[in-house]
Amino acid sequence: MRIFDPHIHMTSRTTDDYRAMYDAGVRALVEPSFWLGQPRTSPASFFDYFDALLGWEPFRAAQYGIAHHCALALNPKEANDPRCTPVLDALPRYLLKDSVVAVGEIGYDSMTPAEDSALAAQLQLAADHGLPALVHTPHRDKQAGLRRTLDAVRASDLAPELVLLDHLNETTAPAALDSGCWAGFSVYPDTKMDEDRMVAVLRRHGTDRVLVNSAADWGRSDPLKTRKVADAMLEAGFDEDDVDKVLWRNPVAFYAQSGRLQLDPAAPAPLHEGNSVLRGGE
Ligand SMILES: [Zn+2]
Repeated sequence: MRIFDPHIHMTSRTTDDYRAMYDAGVRALVEPSFWLGQPRTSPASFFDYFDALLGWEPFRAAQYGIAHHCALALNPKEANDPRCTPVLDALPRYLLKDSVVAVGEIGYDSMTPAEDSALAAQLQLAADHGLPALVHTPHRDKQAGLRRTLDAVRASDLAPELVLLDHLNETTAPAALDSGCWAGFSVYPDTKMDEDRMVAVLRRHGTDRVLVNSAADWGRSDPLKTRKVADAMLEAGFDEDDVDKVLWRNPVAFYAQSGRLQLDPAAPAPLHEGNSVLRGGE
C-alpha cells in the first residue's frame, strides 16, 4: 500500500514517527506552514521556519525514505497580528522554490477583516505563481466558515480545481464538493473526523476529489491516521484500487498541478549544513 499524506506538520514530530509512517506505507507528504502554538513576534521567525521546511525537514524525511514537500503561507491565525503581516511581501520569493507545491495553509480562523485580506492576497499569489492552495476551514462555526471561504475563492482568480478545502466534515462536504474544489478531511484521534465517519463520507460522496490527511502536529494527533483510514476502507468493502485512489492518486493529482512533485524520495544525505539526525556524530 502506498500513502501520500497531503497535510502533516512533521516539524513537530520525531524521527520515530517518520519510521512508523514509512512502515505503514507513507512514501510522500506535504507539510503546510502553520502557527507554532504560540505567537511569533517578527517575520524573521517565519523565514527561519520556511527555511526549515525547505531544507531540514526534507533532509530528515529522506533518512526514512519519504518524499517531503511543503506549502508556504502566512497562517490564518497570525494574519491578525500586524507584527507578522509583512510576511506577505516576502512570500513571492519563497514560492519560487522547487519543493513548494502549494500556498498554504491559508483560510479563516476567527473570520476577521484581517483574515479576509490575507486570504484574498494569498489566493492571488497562488494564481500568479500557478500553484494550488491549501485552504483550512474554521474549526468553529463550520457552515458559515465554509460559505465565507467559498465566497473568497469565487472572488479570486484561482480556479476551483486548484483549491483544496481542508478540515471538512459531514456538514461541509456537500457544498465543498459542489464547488468544484478538492475536499480534504483531517482524521484526528478523538475529535472531529474519525476512521468510521470518514468511511461513511466516502460511501455517501464517492472517492472523486476526496483527500484524507492526519494533520498531525504538536497536539493530540496521530501520523498513522491515513493508514488507519485505508484499513477501515478495506474492512468496509472498498477495494485496493479505491484505497490507492484516495490515499495516493488523488493527493498526487492535486499537488501535481504545481508541476513540482518529486515522488522519488531524495537520496539520504549524511549531513544537512553540517548537522545530522544522529547523536554524537555517529
Ligand atoms: Zn495543519
